[in-house]
Amino acid sequence: MNILDAIHPLQSTSQFNLIFRISDFEMQDSSNFKIYSACCFTRMIDSQFDLVIVGGGIVGLATALQGIRKQPPARLAVLEKEAAVARHQSGHNSGVIHSGIYYKTGSLKAKNCVSGAARMVEFCREHSIPFEVCGKVVVATNEAERAGLGELMRRGTANGVPGLCMIGPEQLREMEPHCTGIAALHVPGTGITDYSRVALKYAELIQQSGGQVLINCEVRRIAKRAGEVVLETTRGAIKASRIINCAGLHSDRIMRLAGDESTLRIVPFRGEYYEIVPARRHLVRNLIYPVADPRFPFLGVHFTRRISGGIEAGPNAVLALKREGYRKTDFNVRDAIETAVFPGFWRMAVKYWRSGVGEYYRSLRKQAFTRALQKLVPEIQSSDLEPAGAGVRAQALDRSGRLLDDFVIVRSNEIIHVCNVPSPAATASLVIGEQIVEMLDA
Ligand SMILES: Cc1cc2nc3c(=O)[nH]c(=O)nc-3n(C[C@H](O)[C@H](O)[C@H](O)COP(=O)(O)OP(=O)(O)OC[C@H]3O[C@@H](n4cnc5c(N)ncnc54)[C@H](O)[C@@H]3O)c2cc1C
Repeated sequence: MNILDAIHPLQSTSQFNLIFRISDFEMQDSSNFKIYSACCFTRMIDSQFDLVIVGGGIVGLATALQGIRKQPPARLAVLEKEAAVARHQSGHNSGVIHSGIYYKTGSLKAKNCVSGAARMVEFCREHSIPFEVCGKVVVATNEAERAGLGELMRRGTANGVPGLCMIGPEQLREMEPHCTGIAALHVPGTGITDYSRVALKYAELIQQSGGQVLINCEVRRIAKRAGEVVLETTRGAIKASRIINCAGLHSDRIMRLAGDESTLRIVPFRGEYYEIVPARRHLVRNLIYPVADPRFPFLGVHFTRRISGGIEAGPNAVLALKREGYRKTDFNVRDAIETAVFPGFWRMAVKYWRSGVGEYYRSLRKQAFTRALQKLVPEIQSSDLEPAGAGVRAQALDRSGRLLDDFVIVRSNEIIHVCNVPSPAATASLVIGEQIVEMLDA
């Protein structure tokens, strides 16, 4: 069925308040969803909901889905400022279903990633979303990195990641014939998928269960009144009994709009990708990672096979001067000033300026980026790589200059703020959503 034919009015609470709902269609692809997004929700004034989720990324949508599954038929809405869901982090990532080897045992990341990955695979299978459990190798190229591999093996085992195996250079060559290293950790459970499609499916299921996904609906102000919260949006005022803030790169701002104190600031880190030209794709079979620097919550530039075909190299981690700045030249005065006046930024800069300069250098000099990749696959050349877009990570920083590694979710009366959900939050989205919904009743 054509999506446009499937649109029908759901309710009309006043002459000016027409809300539409999609039903009875099978989402074919994301372009269809854009048509639906652009034409569906034209007006939305003075609506009342039990639960409102701010942010239509994969975490907000997963939370809404788990919320509506737990308490049907809750009056629930997801508010998204863009013209479609998953336009930011959830639509600009590596598409890896992480297995859980990196995270400190006992952390929220460790707890959620292993079960989250299994749930993601199950979800993709159930809803015919393309995925593949292709495995990955983490490669040590010197003795110091070999020690790092041992730590990953120990953490992964403690976190319950199945099938981990240390391999030598020969076995590595059998798996990845163009990759060199003195040792590697094989992680057979790592997979790949397309998180935009996962997010679109979440949105479709929310709609089918009676919830609403309201696009072009930016939250501008928040007022707390007795027993309810009023959100002033670009679609008018929306009242809700409870709110969940899943605004990603803007989650700290939503927290401040709600009048809640935060000692954290979101600092945007752009991750830039290259793609290997088709004639050289044979250099990489699946996923090849370096041993990451444990001081940072980033994994280092690596090779990732995309579920849609092709091999990407990256992402790096460059401090961005605009929260949604996907190009190197993007700059936003407010974003840059907010970062610069935050004391934690300067404390971080003093500690890590050398790594930061290195990231900028690799960002501006393709040859330097290529050299980082050549540590893993020596045959790769600068001419094999074409620019392939970027994503911007919402990374929380505290006042002491610490980049927060773990997920951070806090409750302030009727509002839950999802303050820090970097990678592997796409992998773990269904489990994170479930936990947030449980927090509502705690
Ligand atoms: C380069 C990169 C690579 C990554 N690779 C992986 C990976 O391989 N595997 C993995 O598991 N994770 C990966 N991640 C992490 C993962 O993508 C994120 O953790 C996840 O997408 C976060 O989802 P989210 O819903 O919190 O944020 P987002 O997707 O950013 O969604 C937040 C939404 O809130 C909306 N919003 C903001 N302000 C407002 C407002 N005022 N009113 C209304 N709406 C608002 C935004 O428009 C946005 O759509 C990667 C991230 C990046 C950037």
